[in-house]
Amino acid sequence: MDPPLDNVVAPDAHGLARACAALWAGELVGFPTETVYGLGADAMDESAVARIFAAKGRPADNPLIVHLPDAEHVGPVVDAWTPLARRLAEDFWPGPLTLVLDAASQLPRVTTGGLATVAVRVPDHPVAQTLLWDVGRPLAAPSANRSGRPSPTEAAHVSQDLGDAVRVVLDGGPCPVGVESTVVDARGRVPLVLREGSITREDLGAAETVTDGDRLRASPGTRYRHYAPTCRVAVAAAGTAAATAHRLMGEGVTVGLVATEPPPPGVVGVARFVDAADLARQLYAALRTAETAGVGVVVVEAVGEAGVGRAVMDRLRRAAG
Ligand code: AMP
Ligand code: MG
Repeated sequence: MDPPLDNVVAPDAHGLARACAALWAGELVGFPTETVYGLGADAMDESAVARIFAAKGRPADNPLIVHLPDAEHVGPVVDAWTPLARRLAEDFWPGPLTLVLDAASQLPRVTTGGLATVAVRVPDHPVAQTLLWDVGRPLAAPSANRSGRPSPTEAAHVSQDLGDAVRVVLDGGPCPVGVESTVVDARGRVPLVLREGSITREDLGAAETVTDGDRLRASPGTRYRHYAPTCRVAVAAAGTAAATAHRLMGEGVTVGLVATEPPPPGVVGVARFVDAADLARQLYAALRTAETAGVGVVVVEAVGEAGVGRAVMDRLRRAAG
């Protein structure tokens, strides 16, 4: 059994006061957003932000997303607010869309991974919103997992990965979206999608997708291994997952299944989903469940590359390595 998680608290007035006090003292706070749990620190406080990198084991050149309570608060972190950013913020904030813009000179470069640009977002989750308004500081907050691990979609995942390095975790229950925000370069005339999310290219209108080489230069985080549990992950085409699981069982390894179908006898049923949005919500928790269940390989059924399905398949392919 896991040890008692005494830094996990309800997001009531008392919990929020503890979280604000920790952030004002330069410490780290886990909090729910609609995408995944974030590991927050005061974005303007260099040593607080340095703690995020240390706690996660995150490479120093992988920049953080800065969270704000609304678009009126971009001033201290963004240098130039573009017409495109204004349109996207009006259409999608609060929500799972991150905008990359030129960074304000007073924003510590540890927050931007050394870049002259900054990624900003206004999350649409009542706990994140209340925290951001109460704390009154922009919060740098990457996903609250150890670097390379599946992102956390429940408060317990944060404690499992980060333990005492996080002072307080606000428990807002499971995250409603389950995959990280869409990241868009909003400095030009058309949105450039740097990372897929539940807000799609089609939603953004006239979006361009950058080539792999450009994306790697523009969005350093996408170059690192991600989302990987300690067991092997195998992706199976729709309708073939149970059969794949059955075949792998013949190789003498314990097999888990995440699929729309039930598991065949002898295969561990890890999670069942009905569609891409449902898999998005469940995927990261399912990868952690597969680990704890001690399976050697978890077979995950692919979803169609449309809507949120594109983001899910992106994450799944990286988890599979
Ligand atoms: P995470 O918060 O862990 O989901 O990761 C943040 C993602 O946003 C990573 O893929 C980063 O590379 C990307 N990102 C953050 N800041 C920037 C930036 N200034 N330019 C491009 N991508 C960024
Ligand atoms: Mg992350």
